[in-house]
Amino acid sequence: MDVIGRRAKHFVIPVFIPHKGCAHRCRFCNQNFVTGAAAVLPDETEITRTTRQYLKFKRTSRGFTEISFFGGNFLGLEFADIRRLLDTAAGFVSSGKINGIRFSTRPDTIDKKRLEIMSNYPVTTVELGVQSMDDRVLERVKRGHSAADTRLAAQRLKTAGYTLGCQIMTGLPGEDEASSLDTARAVAALEPDFVRIYPLVVLNKSPLAADYRAGRFAPLDLEAGVLRAKKLFQIFNHSGINVIRMGLQASEGLDTPGAILAGPYHPAFGHMVFASLMYDHAANLLDAAKELPDTVVLNVHPGSISRMQGLSKSNLKKLHTRYPEVEKFEIRPDPDLNTHEIRLGF
Ligand code: SF4
Repeated sequence: MDVIGRRAKHFVIPVFIPHKGCAHRCRFCNQNFVTGAAAVLPDETEITRTTRQYLKFKRTSRGFTEISFFGGNFLGLEFADIRRLLDTAAGFVSSGKINGIRFSTRPDTIDKKRLEIMSNYPVTTVELGVQSMDDRVLERVKRGHSAADTRLAAQRLKTAGYTLGCQIMTGLPGEDEASSLDTARAVAALEPDFVRIYPLVVLNKSPLAADYRAGRFAPLDLEAGVLRAKKLFQIFNHSGINVIRMGLQASEGLDTPGAILAGPYHPAFGHMVFASLMYDHAANLLDAAKELPDTVVLNVHPGSISRMQGLSKSNLKKLHTRYPEVEKFEIRPDPDLNTHEIRLGF
């Protein structure tokens, strides 16, 4: 890949269905905080209102636009509800206002009956909540499906021609780094079109919160979460698979005081991972240089300047500590470079 972490233009209109279609509660989950939405299934009026509201944004530059149902287990809904939601969204596709429909669902819902229902609608993208490919870990968090279910679901969705996304978590109970990296390799082998990486945070009122409070479980801290996500990202990046998100998206619910009990949550989590990658890259180049001058120029793509600086200029501080002989690090924009490239100037 020649571009790290930048993606083609895509516009998603989110319609939240928090915990709807979930036969039980996964131990880490509390979608009411994650989505910040009430636990009700939206009706036609609500979907129409949300869609119209979002369609007012970026009229000329939206790119491929999808209505996205997420925050629950879409294909776990009653069939009548699945059809009702798809009917409403399909109306916007028929009128040419959006390009397709997208939803997230559990791997064990991709069966023949539901695939048949989907085939009657302009569904374009399906995101599978994979979380882990380690059956022991899946059992620990009470997912209620296996890695084999995920393999079968991915194969069925790809065969049917859907754009496939996989969501994975890291820092789960019973999971060590080897298990997490194995999950990334196993997911990469499924050749999804994109992935999302979510380091586990302990959400208040999730079943896992009790384990955390009792000292039976500790999540990764922020630094470890960034390092872990970086390793996972590199596995996908080397396989040419687009990582479209790292870390939970900030929301009103998550920003509510007390919503997150512990774990690697930061509104700029993805930025921190990319900044760490840029730091590693710069350090490799500087280590390879025979002699370093007083001023080192780091030429980067204009869109990568803040990643090169790091959050609160943390990368520059670390570079000064690592190379005390350098008096000044200067970051300069160079539009001819790719977003992950650094060209040293002495
Ligand atoms: S992780 Fe997904 S399937 Fe599990 S409870 Fe949450 S929304 Fe439902």
